[in-house]
Amino acid sequence: MSIILKTDVLIIGAGPAGATASLFLAKMGIPHLILDAAVFPRDKVCGDGLDLKVVRVLRHLDPSIVEHELPNNPNFTPCWGTRFITQNGRLVDFVHRSHPQAPLPHPLFWTAKRLYFDEYLVKKFDKTYADFRQGAPVKHIFRDGNVWRVLALAQSGEGLEVRAPLLIGADGDHSVLLRHLGERKIARRHYAGTLRQYWRGVTEMSPQNLIEVYFPPRLPMSYFYVFPLPNGEANVGYGMVSEVAAKGGHKLRDIFQRLILEDPVLAPRFQSAMPLEMPVGWGLPLASRRRKAFGDGYLLVGDAASLVCPTSGEGIGTGMISGYIAAKFAHKALTDRRFDAEQFKHYDREIYRRLHAEIRLYHLMMALSPKIYDAALNWLAPNPLFQWTFRHRANGWLKTAYEREIEVLF
Ligand SMILES: Cc1cc2nc3c(=O)[nH]c(=O)nc-3n(C[C@H](O)[C@H](O)[C@H](O)COP(=O)(O)OP(=O)(O)OC[C@H]3O[C@@H](n4cnc5c(N)ncnc54)[C@H](O)[C@@H]3O)c2cc1C
Repeated sequence: MSIILKTDVLIIGAGPAGATASLFLAKMGIPHLILDAAVFPRDKVCGDGLDLKVVRVLRHLDPSIVEHELPNNPNFTPCWGTRFITQNGRLVDFVHRSHPQAPLPHPLFWTAKRLYFDEYLVKKFDKTYADFRQGAPVKHIFRDGNVWRVLALAQSGEGLEVRAPLLIGADGDHSVLLRHLGERKIARRHYAGTLRQYWRGVTEMSPQNLIEVYFPPRLPMSYFYVFPLPNGEANVGYGMVSEVAAKGGHKLRDIFQRLILEDPVLAPRFQSAMPLEMPVGWGLPLASRRRKAFGDGYLLVGDAASLVCPTSGEGIGTGMISGYIAAKFAHKALTDRRFDAEQFKHYDREIYRRLHAEIRLYHLMMALSPKIYDAALNWLAPNPLFQWTFRHRANGWLKTAYEREIEVLF
């Protein structure tokens, strides 16, 4: 016997993308159901870096989150900029200030372990509108006329069937909805392999909590990162575009270990540090492959829609923006009582239009030979013009995050 539930909107997955969809559906007074396989708090392999897109969405939810809650929550660390480490070991810091003596305005990033950040979001679910079932993995999905029938296991172990005309697929890179649609194919050119390892005691961390990025020599389309966390901990990771790894015969785990143990720039900083776990791997579905993210009765968000920024590897902010946009499209569909693909035909345009510049840059980087790629990186980071451009752009990112509405056109 199964429990049978009916709802207008079912969200599968309560990571940042699905949680955002739920939070904004509730804000618009729309009852819905949300299922997640995991029980929160739960870990997710990630760099734990929250960019200004995350800030923008949180500010839309409630401005006091960014003004008061994050600064007063010990699990969140404000990061005032970025440190690029060039291949010859030079540190190039980008700390955002409008002029050298100005006080620091807003952090350019925050970090928070996903264990805490994702739980922070699901704790904000509005129980009046959101029926959240955790520990409930979705096993099968099928369509019965115009209604989806989604079969899951409830936390109690009982069968659970949810019937809904609209599904929001927010179940990440291994999406069960993508599999049902026959769309979970990995194109190596648009996918990256990554590793994460938490450490304690990495030395020479910046007092301004800069997020650090290092592009190791002769390893194109890859970067090593060190992101600061509270209590002397750091999130350390490495990722590479899968096509480049396959062509060059690069083994990520070997490279990661070698960089930490032998790289002249990095190794001294890890000598007295302690790893807190074995390196854990996960994939990044990059937005350079534009996936069709809608169809009859469904919308995809976040990693399920392949929305990871291809140049930075960030997918939390793009996922949360897509969750916001999906909630708006769901609202319109419910108002019109229409859930067919035609109703959602401009959804892809809305989720991808904010990523065009990064996708163009990614294609340019992929076209460079490894030698030119290395030379360009070494020349670019310390270049005053690049630094000026970065500061100028940072002003724009802050303005967008703190002042601009997220416009959604149907
Ligand atoms: C090593 C690494 C470093 C990264 N660093 C950063 C970074 O610093 N900043 C950044 O912005 N991004 C980063 N990313 C990318 C980021 O982690 C993802 O883009 C982001 O988690 C996508 O969010 P999501 O909500 O779409 O999916 P997820 O966070 O993957 O959430 C999906 C949810 O769906 C649930 N689910 C899955 N299957 C089912 C099922 N069958 N039934 C029910 N529920 C299901 C899961 O339990 C999960 O809670 C990194 C990724 C990796 C791997």
